[in-house]
Amino acid sequence: MAWFKKTRTPIAPAKDKASRVPEGLWVKCPGCTQIIYNKDLATNLNVCPNCAHHFRVNATERLRMLFDGGEWAEYDPGLVSTDPLDFTDTKPYKARLKASILSTGIKDAVIVGSGRLDGIRTIIAAMEYGFIGGSMGVVVGEKITRAIERALEARCPLVIVSCSGGARMMEGALSLMQMAKICGALARLDRARLPYVSVLTDPTTGGVTASFAMLGDLNFAEPKALIGFAGPRVIEQTIRQKLPEGFQRSEFLLDRGMLDRVVDRREMKSSIAAALRFMGAIREESAIPSGIGTPRAAEPAPQS
Ligand SMILES: [Zn+2]
Repeated sequence: MAWFKKTRTPIAPAKDKASRVPEGLWVKCPGCTQIIYNKDLATNLNVCPNCAHHFRVNATERLRMLFDGGEWAEYDPGLVSTDPLDFTDTKPYKARLKASILSTGIKDAVIVGSGRLDGIRTIIAAMEYGFIGGSMGVVVGEKITRAIERALEARCPLVIVSCSGGARMMEGALSLMQMAKICGALARLDRARLPYVSVLTDPTTGGVTASFAMLGDLNFAEPKALIGFAGPRVIEQTIRQKLPEGFQRSEFLLDRGMLDRVVDRREMKSSIAAALRFMGAIREESAIPSGIGTPRAAEPAPQS
């Protein structure tokens, strides 16, 4: 029984006055709790000017940072998952796909483009975390494999920027097969002596870490990015031990030889360019993207 009984209905609360500050003008940095003006953050490549906390950026933003003049020709923008398992968890996979396509404006969790990186003709694939956690399904696997094949065809270097929760469980074993498919294509790239730089950003986990993200000729990572296979909580519960400070973060992995460098986002482009040149890539002086830049027409989604 309740101690007090409300016999009368409470007075309706006064309506909130509309805030005069438009939403999203200021952001609080999770690293140093400082309030940052959104435009300042954008001009600083979404890195906190105070403590260098790296905010997550989407795939389009990522490509804009890396390609000269923010220009690239996109490949296979039309590939869409066919929902091969007709999968439903808390909601149907088809509905999940639809919602993600609407919210991100892209058809799956990766954008592939070709353009110039500091004058070097390069193919770059950037993963989109906002699309079902950047998970790798059939479409992501196919697009990345095609990116590698195009790099082979054009004899140009490849860069993959990973940002993913791993394989997409809604496509089951078909997702896992993408790991082998991409690795097979990367082996061909290796035999053709073409450079591949992998950039790992926060977070890169699961089947993506376990396949192409760790297979770069050079593996770069952004500072303090979460990189691992299983999540820290799962590991802790399994081995029943407290994990060390900074476990599965870039710096920790660099210390133990899992990465080649931890690179600040503001120096990422020049670092990749220097690495590619070191590996023999040649800078082309003309500003207009060459023949390989013409994207193919949208193709039907692959079956497996
Ligand atoms: Zn900060």
